[in-house]
Amino acid sequence: MGSEKRCPDCGVPLEALKLRTGDGFTLQIHTNEPRPGLLGGLGMKETLTPTAHVCPECGLTRLYVEEDD
Ligand SMILES: [Zn+2]
Repeated sequence: MGSEKRCPDCGVPLEALKLRTGDGFTLQIHTNEPRPGLLGGLGMKETLTPTAHVCPECGLTRLYVEEDD
């Protein structure tokens, strides 16, 4: 789909992992107002769920907000 994330240091694909707290709750990002750019393009949801992308080589972790479908 052309959306594969890669580690900028290692160049290997990042593994997508769901982020949860120790209590089992999913982390959420709350947006206060519509804004241009990525968040606007995602539909200006008020609650967003970040997905952690982890590099299997060096452990770099990045958070991306993606649409659930
Ligand atoms: Zn890496």
